[in-house]
Amino acid sequence: MVDLQSQYLRLQEDIDRNMQQVIESAQFIKGPAVTQFAEHLQSYLNVRHVIPVGNGTDALQIALMALGLRPGDEVITPTFTFIATAEVVALLGLTPVVVDVDWDTMTMDVNAVRKAITPKTKAIVPVHLFGQCADMQNLMALAEEYGLFVVEDACQAIGAEYKFTDGTIKKAGTIGHIGCTSFFPSKNLGCYGDGGAIFTNDDALAEQMQAIANHGCKIRYHHDFVGVNSRLDSIQAAVLDAKLPHLDEFNAARRQAADVYDQAFCGNPHLLVPARNPQSSHVFHQYTLRLIDIDRDALKSRLAEAGIPVMIYYPVPLHLQKAYQDSRYKQGDFPVAERLASCVLSLPMHTELTDEQLKYIIQHVLA
Ligand SMILES: *Cc1c(COP(=O)(O)O)cnc(C)c1O
Repeated sequence: MVDLQSQYLRLQEDIDRNMQQVIESAQFIKGPAVTQFAEHLQSYLNVRHVIPVGNGTDALQIALMALGLRPGDEVITPTFTFIATAEVVALLGLTPVVVDVDWDTMTMDVNAVRKAITPKTKAIVPVHLFGQCADMQNLMALAEEYGLFVVEDACQAIGAEYKFTDGTIKKAGTIGHIGCTSFFPSKNLGCYGDGGAIFTNDDALAEQMQAIANHGCKIRYHHDFVGVNSRLDSIQAAVLDAKLPHLDEFNAARRQAADVYDQAFCGNPHLLVPARNPQSSHVFHQYTLRLIDIDRDALKSRLAEAGIPVMIYYPVPLHLQKAYQDSRYKQGDFPVAERLASCVLSLPMHTELTDEQLKYIIQHVLA
């Protein structure tokens, strides 16, 4: 699915030098490498604050902790996504409220969000699934109308750009009150272990989140509230700092591979290609087909026999996950998400796909 070795070999000199510097300096935690990477990312994203943390799930948790919510407050998130968004909501004693997604973009359906708002709703967590921004223009307008916080899950969409109808362009993760990302190795900007970051333009929220990530303390050994311990370590920051200047080029390479897939499959009534939202660039964390009247398992094993790895992201919507069973929801409640879960298939997608590899994959998918 991903080829991290070839990418490393291309960037080896910079990555090795950066890592070596950290090892020689022995400043493994909160070293200058972390500050430097955060500054570079801040200017790349054009955002006031970047707070590096341990991983993307921590980023989401810390973001929600900073909003001062109370047990029972409701947080709306799409049901067709990775588990992390609902997980942190539940862990904090808040109530996850899930909504259906749009069939074409596979991101949160804003009309469904509107219908799900109650007096207890405090925040919305849209997910920029597979590398394309959710319908942020309408979501932000809705959030403003009801006075809700928006925490973007930009774990799959770092570098994607969203264009508002007034012409304003913002990067994924810098549109809502808070944005979260992950530097998990296979993400569009991946480190060599775990890592994540939080973005905000709000000074007070930034200060609060910084303190939460550091055991709830603003002055060393003076703990003002219950926090967590979540840090990006210096070696990971060094890797990321070597890779960040290449992020746009990584995303362009993914888009190019997606264009080749699109061209091969578009017009095929059995292989629906990912829809492109005209307001968002797509950075193709995943290239996800919707299979129509095709036996997915059979196709999967046929591809596996040809040595082509494919994945199902995601086979079970949140409302049907065992850990999240809830008397409020049952099978059939979110028909789009349920249909997607039964028909999506993600093809190999990374920065190193060659024309030959793409041709081979396409040939076998069409066979
Ligand atoms: C990867 C991912 C996360 C979690 O990131 P980790 O760094 O693995 O904790 C959360 N949400 C989405 C949509 C993701 O893809």
